[in-house]
Amino acid sequence: MTPTLPGDHRELISDLSGIVTDYPYADPESTLAVLAYDAAEALGRDATPEGRRERTGYTILLHATCWYVSARIFCKSLFASYTRALDGFRTQLDRASCICPAGAHPAQLDSEYQVEAGVSMLTEAGRSAFAEDYGLGEEELAVFDCEGFLADLVDEALGHLHKAHQELFGGIDVSHLDAQFVRDDGRLDLVAMQEAIRRRWENNTGPVALWSARRWLTGQVRDEERIGLFLCLWMGIAQTYEGLPPSYARDLAAALATIDLDVSCEHPQHPWSTADSTTQSRYRAVVHLYAPDDHPDTPVPAELSARELWECPVQYAQLAREALEDLQGWRTMRGGDDEDWED
Ligand SMILES: [Zn+2]
Ligand SMILES: [Zn+2]
Repeated sequence: MTPTLPGDHRELISDLSGIVTDYPYADPESTLAVLAYDAAEALGRDATPEGRRERTGYTILLHATCWYVSARIFCKSLFASYTRALDGFRTQLDRASCICPAGAHPAQLDSEYQVEAGVSMLTEAGRSAFAEDYGLGEEELAVFDCEGFLADLVDEALGHLHKAHQELFGGIDVSHLDAQFVRDDGRLDLVAMQEAIRRRWENNTGPVALWSARRWLTGQVRDEERIGLFLCLWMGIAQTYEGLPPSYARDLAAALATIDLDVSCEHPQHPWSTADSTTQSRYRAVVHLYAPDDHPDTPVPAELSARELWECPVQYAQLAREALEDLQGWRTMRGGDDEDWED
């Protein structure tokens, strides 16, 4: 009889494959939380053959999915569950016990294959089915249980999670941007800031927004620089569709909280509403404001370009409200617990 996987394991392969290929259909946060929980449960069974099979399977699965935890879900407790399970496995693994010939450890495995291998390794039936599907002999299968191989996976996953935890929840240093954005006379170079936002391929929308938020919060802003700095902050939020982690969102929210939302005016329209919602149009509006001779082209019509209209508190309030909605949207999209997003 051809060995087959238990039905719930076939489902687990399909759920985890969706996650590692970045097209999840099962809720990733709860699916991965259950995975980490099950892995931790297996820690106590390491003295049994069943427990050792599971150790191999879960180590491979935690390794395969840790990039998703690091990049897609901003949840401290999930990080903690992963770290606990991986640390637990690591203490059980003796790298020195590896007697494999050089190059025998499976390497550079793509993550869908890892998911299939990991789930299959959990049970004897799964292993037989996997060996048959991939034409693996006994030795090739046994190498998955090698403690040296598994220790390498654990170390790699832990290193990855540790670095990501710092980036998601720790303090981000953007002070190197001072040199780019503050001129010798202390004035802000808003054109340079806009150029930086426009270079999307450098992934600097988030850092520029964070730098702007911190500058805003220090109050080191000349009156004529206020709207430009605020728009750099705002664009950093509005143009980060994938969402920024709590390490950024905390200061962004603090800066937005300085804006009075309970204001009114008599103006029928404000200048920013005439810049359409493309990076290019917004860029043109801001650089024209700060360097009109170098950048004569702007989407903002002359009748709406009075400084008084740019500075109207109602426009600030509208922008702040939109940005706060975006921040809320990131939380919903990225999950995590409310306290993960606070200080
Ligand atoms: Zn080995
Ligand atoms: Zn107004």
